[in-house]
Amino acid sequence: MAASKKNFHVAVVGGGIAGVTLAITLHHRNIPVTLYEQAPAFGEVGAGVSFGPNAVAAMKTCHQGIFEAFEKVCTRNMWSSKQNVWFDYLDGHSMGNSTSAQNSSHQDIAFTISNSTGQTGVHRAHFLDELIRLVPDGISRFNKRLDDVTEREDGKLVLKFADGSEDVTDVVIGCDGIKSRVRQLVVGEDHPSANPTYTHKYAYRGLVPMDKAIGAIGEELASNSCMHMGPGGHMLTFPVNQGKTLNIVAFHTTPDSWADYPRLTRQGTRDEALRDFAGYGPNVINLLKLTDEDLSLWAIFDLGEYPLSTFSKGRICLSGDAAHATSPHHGAGAGFCLEDTAVLAALLEDDRVQTHKDLEHVLDAFDFCRRERTQWLVQSSRFVGDCYEWRAEGIERDFKKIEKEINHRNGIIANVDIDKMCEDARQQLTQRL
Ligand code: FAD
Repeated sequence: MAASKKNFHVAVVGGGIAGVTLAITLHHRNIPVTLYEQAPAFGEVGAGVSFGPNAVAAMKTCHQGIFEAFEKVCTRNMWSSKQNVWFDYLDGHSMGNSTSAQNSSHQDIAFTISNSTGQTGVHRAHFLDELIRLVPDGISRFNKRLDDVTEREDGKLVLKFADGSEDVTDVVIGCDGIKSRVRQLVVGEDHPSANPTYTHKYAYRGLVPMDKAIGAIGEELASNSCMHMGPGGHMLTFPVNQGKTLNIVAFHTTPDSWADYPRLTRQGTRDEALRDFAGYGPNVINLLKLTDEDLSLWAIFDLGEYPLSTFSKGRICLSGDAAHATSPHHGAGAGFCLEDTAVLAALLEDDRVQTHKDLEHVLDAFDFCRRERTQWLVQSSRFVGDCYEWRAEGIERDFKKIEKEINHRNGIIANVDIDKMCEDARQQLTQRL
């Protein structure tokens, strides 16, 4: 913890992974912080999320407790021989090379993508439960939906909430997710980048008991992470809940628009999923048949069409999905939230940061250091998502080329030195102070 308490206060808007990890990290560096969440309590959906080597390194840099929370709930591939496997990639359209179409567990793996941590899946709600333990009493405010931020004559920022209440702060970090209000305040409500756009992919998300999944597709494919590729759709699976549950995310590409925005989810059905995946091999079909009859369906929106020209304006700044919402095909959006937290905390805790002008320089340095990498992720995620579906130009169904693209791009995501990232950000700050 830093020696003396800072003389400024940070308002974190939004209690998802970006906001909660930022509040924890700032608090433990002795920086006064309040977390404002619109919901009556912290909450995450019951789906899986996985973290790569950069994300795990960022957790350690932010606060050891965050890493320990992750370790407590994280589930790796079940087989010791697959501890470094990120995903085994399969031709999901293939009928398999088993003698029985009902038991296709012997289907050949087309190629394997590995990294230093392998697949590390957590149940979102379980991870959040562990993180919340690290948020000290008194720094969270619930039912606080931010509407506006104005500046007082003395330079303090006034947060205005939907319930009519107000609070005062020195700096605002918008961690309010893909439909960020703070983003609208930064770029202007009518600016094209103020809102995310549809990537023309949606995903069915399901959780299936592991014993049933093993019964359907065999132990190797069920208990270790797999990516089933196909034309215009792909399905990924990885174990969560200490291997008791298989997390299934099945993506489908559509020319249709999404009618429900700002709602990003709608109730789907298993039958609908089976229709979208008609023609796929028995591994994909048998797993889909195990999902609940009613399936939640997620529209995949991102900020790829109109990337932000800045993450900050004065002493208001964006972090996490608010800044760089991405499609999930690299499985790195939440990991980049953690990178954001590490860099923001390194800048805000710098002893030289004292005045409101210094805080502007902090946010400007953050924008400079984070925008290029995070916006690259948004574009690359779209590209690899299309690779999985044999739609990427010049790649199509060439597995060697798909493998090469994924390895190259995953390397950019994973092979970073988070401490150096923070040091580089401090150097940017030096140039501005
Ligand atoms: P959110 O989690 O959206 O949190 C925003 C918070 O702000 C919410 O609590 C909300 O209630 C609150 N809020 C919103 N507006 C206001 C307001 N005006 N005032 C106050 N509070 C407000 N990433 C990975 O790294 N690995 C994966 O495997 C992975 N899988 C994914 C699968 C799918 C299908 C999807 C859609 C995404 C996936 N991601 C993954 C991405 C990851 O989920 C996100 O990047 C991450 O959860 C974003 O966290 P966040 O804190 O920025 O936003």
